[in-house]
Amino acid sequence: MDEEKIDVIIVGGGLAGFVAAYLLAKEGLDVMVIERGNTCGSKNVTGGRLYGHSLERIIPRFAEEAPVERMITKERISFLTESGASTMEYASEQLKEFPSYSVQRAKFDRWLAEKAEQEGAMYICGIRVDDLLVRDGKVCGVVAAGDEIEADAVLLADGVNSLLAQKLGMKRELHPAQVGVGVKEVIRLGEKTVCDRFALNPGEGAAWLFVGDCTGGNLGGGFLYTYQDSVSLGIVTTVGDIGRSKLSVPEMVDRLKEHPAVRPYVAGGELIEYSAHLVSEGGLKSISELYRDGVLVAGDAAGFVINFGFTMRGMDYAIESGKLAAETLLAAYEKGDYSAETLSRYKQALDRSFVMRDLKQFARMPSFMENRRIFETYPDTVDNFLRGLFTVDGSAPKRLAFKGIDALKEIGLVNLAFDGLKGLGAM
Ligand SMILES: Cc1cc2nc3c(=O)[nH]c(=O)nc-3n(C[C@H](O)[C@H](O)[C@H](O)COP(=O)(O)OP(=O)(O)OC[C@H]3O[C@@H](n4cnc5c(N)ncnc54)[C@H](O)[C@@H]3O)c2cc1C
Repeated sequence: MDEEKIDVIIVGGGLAGFVAAYLLAKEGLDVMVIERGNTCGSKNVTGGRLYGHSLERIIPRFAEEAPVERMITKERISFLTESGASTMEYASEQLKEFPSYSVQRAKFDRWLAEKAEQEGAMYICGIRVDDLLVRDGKVCGVVAAGDEIEADAVLLADGVNSLLAQKLGMKRELHPAQVGVGVKEVIRLGEKTVCDRFALNPGEGAAWLFVGDCTGGNLGGGFLYTYQDSVSLGIVTTVGDIGRSKLSVPEMVDRLKEHPAVRPYVAGGELIEYSAHLVSEGGLKSISELYRDGVLVAGDAAGFVINFGFTMRGMDYAIESGKLAAETLLAAYEKGDYSAETLSRYKQALDRSFVMRDLKQFARMPSFMENRRIFETYPDTVDNFLRGLFTVDGSAPKRLAFKGIDALKEIGLVNLAFDGLKGLGAM
């Protein structure tokens, strides 16, 4: 290595950035991660459930040493009306075969940063990268805190609003319809209370998703994940929809917390954290350019997120894309060639990976999710049907089939068929 030059600079100390740093440092490359937050993870927000499969292949049995909160063994989804909730629950020992974990990014990212540091990666926190050094069309370093730092290659892992990828013209400015905002509270309840209220064994957790009333008709949904001694509860809604509902996003969070189906679970809890963050919503259409001479883009910066309206997945994609970026950069290092042609292997590897497979499979999801009936009408329909089913008020009972037909009339058979077909096509 040149005295003054680093092999790879990684902008952004999130999951994509630190996975890449860990793998590159392990192979002996000089790697520097630059993170604008004062500590790793301090700027990062997640609901949050990490699907473990991708990190498991990089750090086998990571959950034995990483600060994961609980292994998710119980899944719930509720359709909310103002006072009702139609809830489906699934609990199974089989969920442990391919485990997912609730995680707190402030703790989890710090752990990952330490893993990378143990392999020899350097990281600097509290400094923002303001610009990229570009010579003859090749990215060859960064400008941070007024200093120019040279590198053979730069990995942009700077999250959903990657201003640096935008500056290079690799990513379009975010459009309000293609970006969501997530607001989340962490409410401390105590470990025993979490286990008792959600009927969980120690170490096991619940994931609970909400569609309907909580967003006041806006596109989006709510979530609740159990941490060890607290719960993470929040809302994700499309930025373009803000102002459409009378509720502000923080008011939507309050509405979810105050809903009769949710209130007993968080009663008496202490608010210990409040955060907000942008979320990519655009799916396949939002993917940035992935490589150019001397530069790669990974994780949220590249647009690797799938948003199902009420739930989202981005962490396992960030991890996988960080890994594939590291493998590409390693091959470029061995060849001594960081040209766009060599770095194009990154895109080829992504095309073969589950990241692009999933994004292609769910390519129609964003447009399906623009259907307001999902958030406004269907929760009422399910509620009406179940209320009819369970109410005994002395009047003549209706046959089940008629109750179903009554409930579906509100949607209309044509709309129902259209939504059903579109939904099937999106999945
Ligand atoms: C409310 C909410 C709930 C979510 N829930 C889930 C969930 O349950 N499951 C799931 O899989 N995904 C979830 N996601 C998505 C998930 O959090 C992201 O996909 C994931 O964090 C992406 O990781 P990343 O490393 O690409 O980016 P990030 O984690 O955003 O990391 C980017 C880093 O770059 C830093 N940075 C940015 N610009 C600069 C700069 N110029 N200089 C230096 N540093 C910079 C930032 O400070 C940050 O630390 C959720 C997101 C939100 C907002």
